[in-house]
Amino acid sequence: METNNVKAFGTESAQASLNEIKIQRRALTSKDIEIDILFCGVCHSDLHTARNDWGGTIYPSVPGHEIIGRISKVGDAVSKFKVGDLAGVGCLVDSCGVCPSCKKDLEQYCVPGFTGTYNGKDKHLGEYTFGGYSEKVVVDENFVLHIPENLDPAAAAPLLCAGITTWSPLRHWNVKKGDNIAVVGLGGLGHMAIKLAKALGAKVTLFSRSPEKEKDAKDIGADAVVISTNAQQMSSVKAKFDLIIDTVPYAHDVNEYIPTLNVSGTIVMVGYLGPLDPMLNTVPMILGRKSVAGSVIGGITETQEMLDFCGEHNIVSEIEIIKMQDINEAYERMLKSDVRYRFVIDMASLKNN
Ligand code: NAP
Ligand code: ZN
Repeated sequence: METNNVKAFGTESAQASLNEIKIQRRALTSKDIEIDILFCGVCHSDLHTARNDWGGTIYPSVPGHEIIGRISKVGDAVSKFKVGDLAGVGCLVDSCGVCPSCKKDLEQYCVPGFTGTYNGKDKHLGEYTFGGYSEKVVVDENFVLHIPENLDPAAAAPLLCAGITTWSPLRHWNVKKGDNIAVVGLGGLGHMAIKLAKALGAKVTLFSRSPEKEKDAKDIGADAVVISTNAQQMSSVKAKFDLIIDTVPYAHDVNEYIPTLNVSGTIVMVGYLGPLDPMLNTVPMILGRKSVAGSVIGGITETQEMLDFCGEHNIVSEIEIIKMQDINEAYERMLKSDVRYRFVIDMASLKNN
C-alpha cells in the first residue's frame, strides 16, 4: 500500500524521552479522510503507553488521541465530511463492525477488540497505529467526528477522550437533574466530569487530595470539595452519592469511597487499570446494594452526541497550550498533578520546526 512520510513525536523505549521521528500514513482509500492536525490533547494514557505502564507498548510509540484538525483530503466515497471541515479523532479508529457491541454503537466494547488510535493493530498497513502527536492522520470517515464550529478548537480537543470517557458513564447511569454525583481526582478527566455532570443538572462534589485545587474546582462548577485524606470531611458525605466517577490513574484504596455511596449507588472506575490494592471489602457493598463498575471511553455515536451537547452548552476543557517540544516536561508535570487541567499541543510547533 502506498504511504506518505509524516513528521511525528514519539519514543523508542519506556525509558527514553519523546523526540521527533518520521512515520508513514497510508494513502487515502475511498472511505478515508486526511486531517491536518491543529491540536492534540495530552491524556494520562499517553504517558502510561509511552512508559509501558500497562505492558504491551510497541516501539516506536507515537501517543495522542485527542485530535482536532481541518480536513485536507477526502476519499472518493466519503459522504459525511468535506475538505475544510473541522474534525476530530478520539481513542479509536476502527472496530470489527459486525459483533453485538459494534451493532449497538458500542465500538469501544468491540468483542474482537477495537483499533486504538495508537498502539493498535493497523488493519491497513499490517503493523500498528500511530497517534496524534503528528502533522497529519488518515482515518476511516466512520471514526471521524464533527466538531461544533463555535467551540475553540484547542480547548475542544480534550473532549475527544477526557470528555467522552466521563460522559459515557454519566449517560449510562442516567444522571439527571438533582442527582448527587462525585468525581475523584481533579485532572483532565475529573474536570470534564464536573462540567458535564453539572450541565446535566446534577449536584457535583469533588474528592481531591489537593486542597489548593478547591477554588478551581468551584470555578469549574463543583458544588462542594471533600479532601479525601481528611477523615472528618469523608464522614460528612456518608451515604450521599448516586454515582461516583473515579479518575485516579494509580492503585488507591477504593474502600474509602464505598460508604459515601447511597443505597444502590455505583462507583465507576475509569482511571486505574489493574488489580486493586488493598482489595475490595464486599461487606458495605452487600449491605447497601452498591456496585463497583468500570467503563472505557465511548462509541462514535455517543461521542458525537457529547460533542453536540458541548457545542450547545459551550463546554470545553481548561487548557494550557504547549509546544510539541515541551512534551517530556509536560509528562513530568502530569505525574505531579501539576496540570490545570489539560495540556494541549499546538501542532504548528512540530510543522514549523
Ligand atoms: P490526570 O490529568 O493526571 O488526572 C488524574 C488526577 O488524579 C490528578 O489530577 C489527581 O487529582 C489524582 N491523582 C493522581 N495520582 C493520584 C494518586 N496516586 N492517588 C490519588 N489521586 C491521584 O489524568 P487523566 O488524563 O485525567 O487520566 C486519569 C486516568 O484515566 C489515567 O489512568 C488514564 O489512563 C485513564 N483514562 C481512562 C480512560 C477510559 O476510557 N477508562 C480514558 C482516558 C484516560 P487530585 O490532585 O485532585 O487528587
Ligand atoms: Zn485518553
